[in-house]
Order: sequence, then structure tokens, then C-alpha cells
Amino acid sequence: MKRKKIVIANWKMNEDVDSSTALAKKIKTGLAKKTDYEVVICPDFVSLVPLYQLLSGTNLKLGAQDVAEEEKGAFTGEVSILTLKPYAKYVIVGHSERRNLIGEGDRETARKAEVAVRHKVYPIICAGETLHEKEDGLSRIVVLSQLEAACKHLTAGEIAKTIVAYEPIWSTGSGKVCEAEEVVKVAEDIRKLIKTLYGQKASEEIRIVYGGSIDDSNVSSFSEIEDLDGLLVGGASLHPSEFISIVKKFNGENK
Ligand code: PEP
Repeated sequence: MKRKKIVIANWKMNEDVDSSTALAKKIKTGLAKKTDYEVVICPDFVSLVPLYQLLSGTNLKLGAQDVAEEEKGAFTGEVSILTLKPYAKYVIVGHSERRNLIGEGDRETARKAEVAVRHKVYPIICAGETLHEKEDGLSRIVVLSQLEAACKHLTAGEIAKTIVAYEPIWSTGSGKVCEAEEVVKVAEDIRKLIKTLYGQKASEEIRIVYGGSIDDSNVSSFSEIEDLDGLLVGGASLHPSEFISIVKKFNGENK
């Protein structure tokens, strides 16, 4: 089964509407050619609307960085899937910054993945271990248990449309990239878990991406991992020429 490769840019809270638009214009120019892989930009909520207009008809798709657990009601400051779905094809859930800074856990992540998928917005479920957990040899247990919890409300058909982002917490934003061999092992374990829980078809269709300090100099070591379908890029995605180069190198266009 051939899965579509995907590279996702997470701009976090680094850009405003004007700078997001300028950045997206540069990426649009650099990645104008139709390809058989996907590129997704996750700007802040407010920039989703102007970027949707800017990027419509191109190869570039949009993702939201978060979503409310509920669809509607008295939830001050939250953004509903109903608001996001005209613009965002994907939504990041369970990012380590939401878990660690805001206090979200597996329960919230599972509910957000569920609400997204029911509205045909594909969740990008993040899972990853801390340095402490890695040093204690717990990486895979932590990742698999976060993943199992996050997928709790999803059906096998919905799982197949989901993306899992393996994002070791010690690696995101730290400049320390995970060894490609370790990413291979985690990706294999994720597919095994999905096979056990949801069957062969879901395990072959789910896409697995890696995130954590990817840049232009280390991306090539991730481009030939069979079980790895893509990347989630934070810091380096804010530099358009570097991001374009990462996308091309990962997809074997610019070695
Ligand atoms: C992230 O936090 O999702 C991420 C991948 O960040 P960075 O690439 O900056 O490590």
C-alpha cells in the first residue's frame, strides 16, 4: 500500500496575519509544482482564513494547531471544529506544548481527535517521551500508551485517515534530533499497535511522521525510512527557503 508523503509546518504562535501571509507566499512560490506528496501549513487560527484564500487551488493545504473538544456553547476562548472545517484539512492534537504548558492530557487529546474526525478534519496526533522517560528506557511504552489513549474513540476507518506524529519532547525545539534508527523502531511499534487494535488495513494506511529539530542539514537521514511517511517541522518551517529545501529533500527532489 502506497501512502502519500506529507510534510507539515507548525508555525506555533510565531507569526501574525501579515507575516504569515508573506511566509506563505514565499512557500507557495517555491512549491508551486504539482506533486504526489502533501505539504501542510499550520498557522495561528486568525491566519487560517487569509491563507485559505491565498493557497486555494495550490498544492498547499492548511491545518489548525488545536481544536475545542466541544462543537458549540459557552467555552470562552475556544475554537470549534465547525469554525475550522471550511479552512483546515488537518488539526494538530496532543502537541507536547498543549500537554505541558496548558495541562492537556490523554482524555482531551482523545476527545479532540474524535471531534475532528467526525467532521472529516484529519487529526495529527502527537505523542512523545520526556528526556527522563527516554533515559529510563520508557520511550516506546510512553508513546504507545499516549497513542492508544488518543485513538480511543476512533473507528478503524477513522484511524486509517489519521496521522501520528512521533515527537520526542527532548527533541522539539532543542536542536537535538532523534536518531533515524530509533525513529524506525518507534514507527514499526506504532504500526504493530495499530494492527493489533484496529487491523491490518488501518495499520497500512495510517501515516506516521517524525517531529523534533528537523532542519536542512539532518532531513536527508529521514527520507528513506520505509515506515515514515513525513515530518512535522517547527522552527525551520519559519524560514521559507529552508522549509522548501526540507520538503524537497525529504521527497528526494533535492539531494
Ligand atoms: C514541534 O514542536 O512540533 C516541532 C517539531 O518543533 P521543532 O521542529 O522546532 O523541533
